Amino acid sequence: MSDDLDVGSLGFETRAVHAGAPPDPVTGAVTTPISLATTFKQDGVGRARGFEYARSGNPTRASLEANLASLEGGRYGFAFASGLAAEDAVLRQLSPGDHLVLPNDTYGGTYRLVARVHSPKGLEFDAVDLLDPVALERAWRPTTRMVWIETPTNPYLRVIDVAAIAEVARSRRALVVVDNTFATPWLQRPLELGAHLVVHSTTKYLGGHSDVVGGFVATDDPPLAEGVGFLQNAAGAVPGPLDCYLVERGLRTLAVRMDRHCTNALAVVELLRGHPAVARVFHPSLPDHPGHDVACRQMSAFGGMVSFSLAGGEPAAVAVCEAARLFTLAESLGAVESLIEHPARMTHASVAGSSNAVGPDLVRLSVGLESVGDLLDDVRQALDRVPA
Ligand code: PLP
Repeated sequence: MSDDLDVGSLGFETRAVHAGAPPDPVTGAVTTPISLATTFKQDGVGRARGFEYARSGNPTRASLEANLASLEGGRYGFAFASGLAAEDAVLRQLSPGDHLVLPNDTYGGTYRLVARVHSPKGLEFDAVDLLDPVALERAWRPTTRMVWIETPTNPYLRVIDVAAIAEVARSRRALVVVDNTFATPWLQRPLELGAHLVVHSTTKYLGGHSDVVGGFVATDDPPLAEGVGFLQNAAGAVPGPLDCYLVERGLRTLAVRMDRHCTNALAVVELLRGHPAVARVFHPSLPDHPGHDVACRQMSAFGGMVSFSLAGGEPAAVAVCEAARLFTLAESLGAVESLIEHPARMTHASVAGSSNAVGPDLVRLSVGLESVGDLLDDVRQALDRVPA
């Protein structure tokens, strides 16, 4: 790529490959250097060359931040040490006494952060069914300052209408935040739909290889960028340079990986739908799925996550998880290898007994990039072992 080419207005895949740091001006290296320095020489007192101290910013992180902000369609991006650290920086934009609305099947760790970290400090909240406009209306208070959306939701993969909620919230001067971890900016761009802030666990599809924990906040709003950027430095939950490099490397192949995740997931959905051990399949592609119509407008494809409930209840769900051989029994999602898990006892154990509790008959799959025939064989053999 020529040194003076501005990639900012080029296509998504081009920006994923080339946005961020240009080729190294000294060596011409085409990959972003992993810059380990914690401090940077100044040309005079108070005359830094762009970086001063690595918590405040370093070149590898700056490259990731420019790249991912561009993919989300925002001018500002901030990398964090984990998805929850990114969420925490966003929630800290609120004050004690403010009210937050969040979905009743959000990621368990998000619910825990709100209910057990921010609520004891004075944040008020309601977890409601955000697919139901009446529920949002009923939960709304004069102090409501933020609506938190996660779509597709985890683990039921229900699709929430970002544009509709943004219209209501903006007319009442409340902020809209979208956790875009499951969809990624390749499938869904919340800022274009009216959201103020996008958060990510980059640990998932963006990193894409199960080898880095990270988080991200993107926005196009200067005051919000100032608030989040201040906290990134002042609270200091920043990722190291190697982590930033790994996430940015993941971005380079995001589009092609996501396309294959999506087509492999569709094949798995079809198999599950025809198997007698399965009671119900949850995937945005299904015409009877909650939010399917919204997904058709809001997403460019339906995603690589699939959940299903077992006719045989919890024992059957646990048995399927343990019978899988190619799908690895593990938490997390969004990487090249396929994973299977039992949300009620694993990823969502922290919300047991709350309004966000998950059915014990549910199994969640993160469909990876292995040969689709091998994936189908594995799901089939695991299901065949449980009584219908
Ligand atoms: N958001 C979603 C949708 C998640 O699934 C997760 C983790 O599983 C998080 C946020 C938290 O991210 P992290 O584990 O990187 O802190």
